[in-house]
Amino acid sequence: MVFRSNVLRTLGASALLLLLAGCSAPLSAHWQGFPPAPQAKPGTAETDSAPAPAGPDCAEVKCVALTFDDGPGPYTESLLDVLDEHDAKATFFLIGIDVAKHPDIVRDEFARGHELGNHTWSHQDLAKLSPDAGQRELRKANDAIKEATGAAPTVMRPPYGTITESLKKSQPVPVVMWSDDTLDWKTRNAKKTIKAAENIEPGSIVLMHDIHKSTIDAMPKILTDLESQGYHFVTVSQLVGSPKPGVAHKTGQQPAATN
Ligand SMILES: [Zn+2]
Repeated sequence: MVFRSNVLRTLGASALLLLLAGCSAPLSAHWQGFPPAPQAKPGTAETDSAPAPAGPDCAEVKCVALTFDDGPGPYTESLLDVLDEHDAKATFFLIGIDVAKHPDIVRDEFARGHELGNHTWSHQDLAKLSPDAGQRELRKANDAIKEATGAAPTVMRPPYGTITESLKKSQPVPVVMWSDDTLDWKTRNAKKTIKAAENIEPGSIVLMHDIHKSTIDAMPKILTDLESQGYHFVTVSQLVGSPKPGVAHKTGQQPAATN
């Protein structure tokens, strides 16, 4: 019985971890098909460098970093339009397979001044892969983003928020976690996503997913509400200032040196 209760306890802990990890369950419900992609605009050629807007001074004004994982998806272009209406910059953690299928959308994200992040090639749990397999997942996604935009991703986020310590430390770019999980991937409900966004504070890094229509439906109200409170919407790198490679960032505050 001791063995059985240990097993149950382990299972319970795993389930809890998975729940806390937040970043959507395996992408079994992967969408199919896209609306027609927009034509590339002048000045968005692959060789263009990042727009790199300076952004507001987050030491002086309220800032929040909205992050969207698991795209590009069929709703991403609609989200980009909503973000533009609010002069909002965001960070997209992209899945390499879908970047390779739809580089035009990723190019558009980049051209509109958003930050692009690596979210692995095929949404693997990096804590469960061999070091070589983990590096391969990240390298392939990195290459796909670079091929689409002409620039390598400047941040990375491990699927499920899990990564081995050695892989984290070996990253050439900052590792970005989050402080606020809207659970949009779980509720798939715009009202609940709006409610969850009420917990946002200055310096929050907010986890959402642009592959769910309910998330895009929630965005106009979330942006309007935060705007009325004086928030500025910035990329993760703008929020943190100088995020450090190989270190996990969860908020706009620089993490302790031991992190
Ligand atoms: Zn994910």
